Order: sequence, then C-alpha cells, then structure tokens
Amino acid sequence: MQTSIAPDVLATPLGQDADRILRKCVHCGFCNATCPTYQITGDELDGPRGRIYQIKDMLEGIAPGEQTLLHLDRCLTCRNCETTCPSGVPYAELLDIGRHLAEQQVARPLPQKLQRALLRRFFLSPLFGLALKTGRLLRPALPQTWRRMIPQQHSIGATQDVDTRQPWQQTVLLVGGCVQNSLQPAIDLAARSVFKQLDLHTVVATDTRCCGALSHHLSAERAAIAQIKHNIDHWLQQMQQHDCQHLSMTASGCGVMIRDYARLLQHDAAYADKARRISEAWRDPIELVRQQLNKGKKLNPANSANGKRIAFHPPCTLQHGQQLGGQVEALLQQLGFKLLPFDETHLCCGSAGTYSITQKSLSMQLRQRKLNHIEKHQPELIVTANIGCQTHLQSGTDTPVLHWLEVLAPT
Ligand code: SF4
Ligand code: SF4
Repeated sequence: MQTSIAPDVLATPLGQDADRILRKCVHCGFCNATCPTYQITGDELDGPRGRIYQIKDMLEGIAPGEQTLLHLDRCLTCRNCETTCPSGVPYAELLDIGRHLAEQQVARPLPQKLQRALLRRFFLSPLFGLALKTGRLLRPALPQTWRRMIPQQHSIGATQDVDTRQPWQQTVLLVGGCVQNSLQPAIDLAARSVFKQLDLHTVVATDTRCCGALSHHLSAERAAIAQIKHNIDHWLQQMQQHDCQHLSMTASGCGVMIRDYARLLQHDAAYADKARRISEAWRDPIELVRQQLNKGKKLNPANSANGKRIAFHPPCTLQHGQQLGGQVEALLQQLGFKLLPFDETHLCCGSAGTYSITQKSLSMQLRQRKLNHIEKHQPELIVTANIGCQTHLQSGTDTPVLHWLEVLAPT
C-alpha cells in the first residue's frame, strides 16, 4: 500500500512504525473473511481492511470523526485478521496507533467517557471482589439471566496440595492478575498442581495487579504504561529473588498483553530492555506443559472430566494473539479427553475484556453464535483458556465452562 504520511508524523517513531506496517498491506481484503465484526455488520468499515484505511487517512492528515472512533471501538482486537493475512500485517500494532490518534483528535461523548472511567475504577479496585461476593450471596434469589452473570466459584479440591519438593527442574513465577483470583481462584491452584506433577516449581507473585490490558483496551494509555512499568520492576525483582526461568499466567488474555510489553516499550530508553526480558521470559501454561512432556515428564489427569463430552473453545488471545492454536486441543486428546468438533472455532466469542459492556449488542450476537455452534453437539463441559471467555460463555449457558487446567488437575 502506498502511503503519504504527514511529514511531522513520519518524523516520529509512531509514524515510522505505522508507515512500515501500512506498506505491508496489499489491500487484498482476505482478512475480512475471518473478521467477526465484518461478519456481523457487513460494513467494510467494520473489517480490518476498512479500519486500516481509516487509520491511514488519519496519518495522512484527514481528521477523524465520531464514526472513526466507533469503527475502531468495535474492533475486538481478536487478531483473527493477523492469522489470515498472507502479507503478515501486524494489524494490532497499527490499531494501537490508530486508537491513540483518534482518541487525541475526537472528543468522546461524555457518557462514554464516564462509562470507561467507571469500568477501570471498578475492575481495578477491591470493589469488584466485594460486589462479586455480594452477588454470589444473593444469587439463589435472582432470575436466571442475572444468576448466569454471576459465576459460581469452582471447587478447589485436591489442587491445594502444593509441596516444596526439591530439586525442581525449573521455577515459574505465576502472576495472578486482577479479576481472575476473585472469579475463579481454582484455576491458579490447578496450574500449580499440574506444574508440580511436571516437576515445575511455582512461586506465586505477590502484589497481584492488572497486566495493563484493561486500561490499554479502554485507551487509557498513560495508566496502562504506568501499570506495565510497575509490573516489570516487580516481576524482575521477584524472578531474580526466586531464580525463576519463566513467568506465566493462566489467562491467555493477559498472556498476549505480556508478550506485547517489549513492543509497547520499545521506544522507552529506560524500559525497553527490561520489557524485552519480561516478554522473553513469558510462557503460556500450554507451552510449559508441552515443554515438560517433551522432556519425558508424565501427567496423569485423574479428573472427573475424563470421559465427558468436551467442547474446547480456543480464545483468540491463545490462537491468534499468541499463535498457539491447536496445542491445548492436541494435549487434551493425547491425554484421552474426548473433544467435540464444532464450526467457526476461529471466531471470537465476543468477550474481549470490557467489550461485552462497551459493545453489548455485538458481543451478545457473537456469544450466541458461538454457543449455537457449540451446543449443537450437546457437550457436557465447555473448556477454554481465558477467564474472560469462560465468564462470558458461562453467562449464556447452563453447561459448565472450565479452564483446561481445571480439567487436568486431580479432583
Ligand atoms: S489480508 Fe492483510 S494484506 Fe490483505 S487487506 Fe487484510 S491486512 Fe491488508
Ligand atoms: S482484530 Fe478481530 S475484530 Fe479487529 S479487525 Fe481484526 S479480525 Fe476484525
């Protein structure tokens, strides 16, 4: 794609990054075929190619309007378009630039500003845990639609058994994140139990805060970068103290963010190297499990899920964001779990962080589309790899939705 970016923008690192990305795009439009928002609205401006053109216009000096903001807001950042693109366009990187420019030039309507500020405050404060506890107490008395929006806490069972056996092959710093430990603490305990079976020692990171994704996706960039820098300093100190080779987290949505730390801080002289070290140390749990199995370690899942009809929903952040598609499915099948095939596994379920609140209609349509495909095969369990997808899907079905680590941990 030819570009004529305004000279003052082209003189900045942001302008040069954008120019490099735009020149890769050959505007073939293949990416529209797998874009969930384009599939629903049928509007070119809601597809990746249309968004790329809108971002190009801004870089070339055409002022964005509220419609530009809307079409960029509607993007789920699912990165399905990156998987599809034959030219290897790093779309998410360009989207970050486009959102930054649009946010600078378009005044967001006040109700949206308030909603975004409140969402950040709510999810990043102890209020979230308190509201969840209260909701769980009231749950039995609520109508079904409301009940489904308040996920029940999963049983923790034998996963609490974490010992201090020595010597370990490797040590992993397990980061808790912001909302997951209130929603489903069983997932991290399951991870520790599975890692233990595979001779991996887990050190749980103190000071569990958001990975930065929440603020980043709500375009609160300054807050996101401050959070990321805090995490980098804290995690590097903890990794050094406990001699950790890797850093992991059980939510694939946070994982893709941590993988991106190196890119997000590449132009920051004080943090570029530290951010790169964190991104390089990052391993999704499936990478750690497969690494240990390849070394001959054994995993014996004695879980009640074995023998059940399971539908595995691969989060976009796992299959597109981290390019780890097919790995959990292969592992579960190798361990004897019975997985059901279903259509459109590549498409987003509509969760995408706070998207289910800020873009409710599109999000609900995507959730229903996903559940229709899954439930056609009458699964007894739906399994996934990200707390966001897990909670979102559970809010639309009575079929239990679990993290894959929960079905591997002994019960
Ligand atoms: S598939 Fe890739 S090259 Fe083609 S329009 Fe989409 S982003 Fe551009
Ligand atoms: S990230 Fe997802 S929603 Fe956004 S343009 Fe790409 S495919 Fe479409």
